[in-house]
Amino acid sequence: LVSLEDHDPELFDLIEQEKNRQWRSLELIASENFTSKAVMDCLGSALTNKYSEGLPGARYYGGNEVVDQVETLCQKRALKAYGLDPEKWGVNVQPYSGSPANFAVYTGLLKPHDRIMGLDLPSGGHLTHGFYTYSKKEGTRKAVSATSVYFESFPYRVHPETGYVDHDGLARDAGVFKPAMIICGGSAYPRDWDYGKFREIADANGSLLMMDMAHISGLVATGEQTSPFDYCDVVTTTTHKSLRGPRAGMIFFRKDERGFETKINQAVFPALQGGPHEHQIAGVATQLKEVMTPEFKVYSQQVKKNANALAEKLQSKGYKMASGGTENHLVLWDLKPAGITGSKYEKCCDFVNITLNKNCVPGDRSAITPGGVRIGACALTTRKMCEPDFEQIAELLHEVLEAALKLQEKSGPKLKDFTALLDGDETLKSIRERVN
Ligand code: PLP
Repeated sequence: LVSLEDHDPELFDLIEQEKNRQWRSLELIASENFTSKAVMDCLGSALTNKYSEGLPGARYYGGNEVVDQVETLCQKRALKAYGLDPEKWGVNVQPYSGSPANFAVYTGLLKPHDRIMGLDLPSGGHLTHGFYTYSKKEGTRKAVSATSVYFESFPYRVHPETGYVDHDGLARDAGVFKPAMIICGGSAYPRDWDYGKFREIADANGSLLMMDMAHISGLVATGEQTSPFDYCDVVTTTTHKSLRGPRAGMIFFRKDERGFETKINQAVFPALQGGPHEHQIAGVATQLKEVMTPEFKVYSQQVKKNANALAEKLQSKGYKMASGGTENHLVLWDLKPAGITGSKYEKCCDFVNITLNKNCVPGDRSAITPGGVRIGACALTTRKMCEPDFEQIAELLHEVLEAALKLQEKSGPKLKDFTALLDGDETLKSIRERVN
């Protein structure tokens, strides 16, 4: 048994570099977190060697006595973590990640070219909820994600001024489009979800209602966001964001006469996936154990407090937060009034080792030139940062913005010219030293 360090020093060194980058920088990407040693131990365990196509008790390979127990434990904990009655809800813990989980739901519950409505990407939705790009010049529409290749999608949006989901617009358009499924959830929505309103619209149009709670699943499990389970037919999630587990996905479905259990299980395997990644499933299981502790509840509360402290501090400096603030783990900072694009600001933040991402903000017409940045509190809260730390981060972000605006005066509008000047900027260099 040779260690990675001895077997492949080149790769070992790259992993060390990435580890250092993660610990040195201020990690503010809203979809990222730092997993525990227990989760890491599962990922590097003997479970990675095993094939286990099928479900516990019904596998296509021998030698699954132990793996069956691992997967069953994960299923049980998943239902318990969300307070679900196993008679009424089931869960499939095999999706490799969030995108395959969503596609498995569509594959199982829809027919090809059925209509769906999800939150538009520039409004904070996710690609897997359906997205097209349009060329005005050529008068064409191009499906960007497979969801829009195989299903007909029509988006709903957030209101350009309030930044909240435009339920009236959704009700109006759903009345005409008659979607087979409406999808709630998003990647950059700083507010809680009004599932009652979604359910009403779905019922009025005979649509199924799905929630993709990928971003907020840790907050839902701890009661820090409204639970979608009272209203939705099916709920998907990733496990590596606010839930703080390994990269994976889960699908929760109602067990009733509609037969979702068989349809979804068969969509995952054999329709879309092969052998489940039992090392990941074990990682999810051990994380779900942690999620049910009082400590994780305190963590989730702190995540929200930190995001709020950051938003308030930035607002006190006159900056605009989309929707006027946050109710969850993320903040969407609208940089348009400040006079810079999300792309340029992200480059400056990267330079000073503050990691965040450019993002569309309400009112943006295209996802290609995003007008803001998305900032998340999950990862740094795992590193035990509290409100005063996040206020200090807001001060740093303010300093970076002032430096970025000065740089833009020198470089002119082009991103390439702007980026070329970063290396010579003394103010940004001094901020980077303080971050490090
Ligand atoms: N759904 C939402 C709401 C997401 O934000 C993401 C990823 O960020 C996904 C699905 C896809 O997850 P994955 O990247 O694990 O495929």
